[in-house]
Amino acid sequence: MGVTETKTIELPQSITVRELAQRIEASPIDVMKILMANGVMANINQLVDFDTAAIVLSEMGVEAIQEISLEELAKEDKGSIPLWRRMLANEDPKSLVHRSPVVTILGHVDHGKTTLLDAIRHTNVAEGESGGITQHIGAYQVEHNGKKITFLDTPGHAAFTAMRARGAQGADIVVLVIAADDGVMPQTREAIAHAKAAQVPIIVALNKMDRPGADSNRIKQQLAENGLIPDDWDGDTMVVPISAKKSTGLDDLLEAILLVSDDLKILANPKGKVFGTVIEAEVGKSQGVMATLLVQSGTLHDGDVVVMGNVFGRIRAMFDFRGKKVHKVDPSSPVSVMGLHGVPVAGDLFQTVESEREARQIVEERKILQIKVTEKNALTLEQLFARFQAGELQDLRLIVKADVQGSIEPIVSSLKDLSSEEIKVNIIHSETGNISENDVMLAVASKAIIIGFNVKEDTGARRYADNEGVSIRNYDIIYRMIEDIEKALKGMLEPELREKVIGRAEVRAVYKVSKLGNIAGCRVVEGELRRNGRIRVVRNGKTLHEGEIASLKHFQEDVKEVRQGFDCGVGVKGFMEYAPGDSLICFVLEKTSF
Ligand code: GDP
Repeated sequence: MGVTETKTIELPQSITVRELAQRIEASPIDVMKILMANGVMANINQLVDFDTAAIVLSEMGVEAIQEISLEELAKEDKGSIPLWRRMLANEDPKSLVHRSPVVTILGHVDHGKTTLLDAIRHTNVAEGESGGITQHIGAYQVEHNGKKITFLDTPGHAAFTAMRARGAQGADIVVLVIAADDGVMPQTREAIAHAKAAQVPIIVALNKMDRPGADSNRIKQQLAENGLIPDDWDGDTMVVPISAKKSTGLDDLLEAILLVSDDLKILANPKGKVFGTVIEAEVGKSQGVMATLLVQSGTLHDGDVVVMGNVFGRIRAMFDFRGKKVHKVDPSSPVSVMGLHGVPVAGDLFQTVESEREARQIVEERKILQIKVTEKNALTLEQLFARFQAGELQDLRLIVKADVQGSIEPIVSSLKDLSSEEIKVNIIHSETGNISENDVMLAVASKAIIIGFNVKEDTGARRYADNEGVSIRNYDIIYRMIEDIEKALKGMLEPELREKVIGRAEVRAVYKVSKLGNIAGCRVVEGELRRNGRIRVVRNGKTLHEGEIASLKHFQEDVKEVRQGFDCGVGVKGFMEYAPGDSLICFVLEKTSF
């Protein structure tokens, strides 16, 4: 019967005219003609956005659907459902199989994280002919009762949360090490907050049980006070007594990990799309860039092309954690790879693509997107409110830092009282002490804002917060704090001026003009530059200067605006040191509206 199926093609968020033509098997000239007929002047190498590309496709009777990109998935906030789980939603459920759990070890300094990692490695990794592990690649695998467990080898919540701040989640389970002769300490509480925010289950390893002062009942009491009820007290947190130094209780710990992992449904499709997380990376003395990847789904092969962040490359060789050459890697396995053209960042997501050409193009697109993303990430109270209204967030997440324990309780309880049916106030972490970089990291990862009461910000914390667009609000009077948050929840805060990026130009050359000093010869690569806008000069991702436009010329003429694809000469007030390759981001200030 005459039902015609419309053909559909998946397209990325932006695509060059050339690539678009290739994907629909048309000539680039025809694509350019259709674009022109729709009022878009684009050359063959120019990027067009999805909506524009979709117009071209519809004129050819093809429907465009938007590809889901890793970064979009990573940026979405789906109540902390790990990225790999959301990625698996695109895989055929029948192809999914169990993969082994990936574990990270957190806990207070000196409670025995490193000793435990070493003990597990030595007792459980079969010594090879070459005498065991010689390499440290940031992760290793052990076998217990015929089942594998992967351990991430860089203990510490900074590594854990840095990963999550980038949208990734390497670990499926957290082992929280607590010294039984010491107890729950500030970093223990911090680790609990980080793991809970990530919704990763916690198993407690009660360490140093060989010490005379070890007192497991006291620690269980403290755990219960911190929301982790031990299983022998009818709760659901497994607490396993061990001694990392004497290697006792380790089997029980591994058993507990496997038990928890059975409940978690940690899945992967070994035949599906290949993706995972960068665990660590460095430039080796002789081999060039070495990066450790944790495959989370799919099977990685020698010769595959991988992309992560702004880095890509064809894998020239792969080594497992024993330093043994391997040619294919299954889900949950860590592997050290050679062949990348740059050093990726730990916590970046990686995926495989068809060709180096495609990889290069993805990286180009990301560079453009990155600028947009930093604008979008900002987490001021006002913006958070806008996101509630848009239905993107269901709770207001706060991190509370105060000078003394006595202030924390009244602050936390009055803030919680502000919860309403529409919006819940969720205090993800509260602690005495100054605002640290760790707090900011937790805020980035959890999309939270930080409330300080009579505390200072550690050096570095403010800079980091500004870079990431995290809001830190300091108060010295409780009712002012409550009033502010209440207003924010009701959307009554005074409107703020907000930046709106309208275009980006790339510096191609620098000219000396006697009267004006240096002028940047640019091509507008996105949006437009406006004479009344402000410019941020960005080099290698860093802002060098921000100021008004002093002059804007197209050829010799002064102009009010210059649009995408055109060349221009730009002078920025108070800046002369342009260099080819710099980005000039043009923005205007707008009142926020809600
Ligand atoms: P980390 O800072 O958490 O990585 O702690 P370390 O693994 O470096 O351990 C700190 C100190 O505690 C070291 O001197 C270890 O030898 C000691 N230690 C670790 N585990 C045990 C244990 O089970 N029993 C005893 N008695 N000492 C331990």
